[in-house]
Amino acid sequence: MDKELSYGEDYKYIPATSVNSGIGVEVLPDLYCHTVQIVNISLVGKPDSSDFVLVDAGMPGSADEIIAATEKRFGAGSRPQAIVLTHGHFDHVGAIIELIEHWDTPVYAHELELPFLTGKENYPDPDPTVEGGLIAKMSPIFPNEPLNLGSRIQPLPSDGSVPHLTGFRWIHTPGHTPGHVSLFRESDRALIAGDAFITVKQDSLFKVLTQEIEISEPPRYLTTDWKAAKHSLGKLRDIQPAVAITGHGLPVSGELLTIGLDKLVNEFNQIATPDYGKYVENEHHH
Ligand SMILES: [Zn+2]
Ligand SMILES: [Zn+2]
Repeated sequence: MDKELSYGEDYKYIPATSVNSGIGVEVLPDLYCHTVQIVNISLVGKPDSSDFVLVDAGMPGSADEIIAATEKRFGAGSRPQAIVLTHGHFDHVGAIIELIEHWDTPVYAHELELPFLTGKENYPDPDPTVEGGLIAKMSPIFPNEPLNLGSRIQPLPSDGSVPHLTGFRWIHTPGHTPGHVSLFRESDRALIAGDAFITVKQDSLFKVLTQEIEISEPPRYLTTDWKAAKHSLGKLRDIQPAVAITGHGLPVSGELLTIGLDKLVNEFNQIATPDYGKYVENEHHH
């Protein structure tokens, strides 16, 4: 391994899965979503083109699966022009170092996410006490120490453009993490939302396993700023996405997306903000 690059000390394989694990879905002709255990990666670009980008980098230990999925779609030996990270949580950067070494490709994330990706800062500890079931209770075993991508990671351009993703712009959607971004393409209103919202209720292990669609708040045990999360969701609702790939759960489009997002924004304090948990502000009452 390149000695400049290192995972956190607590990096490890996490035994969690869903029925979609290993399955890829073509959401649009140039937008492909592949599920690694419980998290989604996106491949953006036409399958006959060598100009494509990987968004997010899966679970720990998933590099071979991601390379295989990429080669299946773009051909043997294909490599993305860039990897863009929606944020730096372990389940979105799990294979990033092996992928950098295999593809020698640049990586981009929001400036405010860089401390967590260059070994400088830990994410706050996940909150196993937050209202919300088994996954939250499991969260203390999740890797939390920062990885270090050194000079291999660069900030996204401040003009909102996304390198190698013509037509897309990044939207700052903090709350789940400080430097969380979502990617949006105006022409067909395609959205890659990361964990700004997800389409599966993560507080139910059963729903994670079966991937029943439910437009939901960001994963609770890792979300530390609910006010910002709500504001970010408002931004995403207002751009009126027609189709969305989220960090967890199935891709979603049409009314299911529009109505679900609207409801989540309008009733955020009731349905999204946890009733209790260490990152929930005291002023929040029912
Ligand atoms: Zn996350
Ligand atoms: Zn996630």
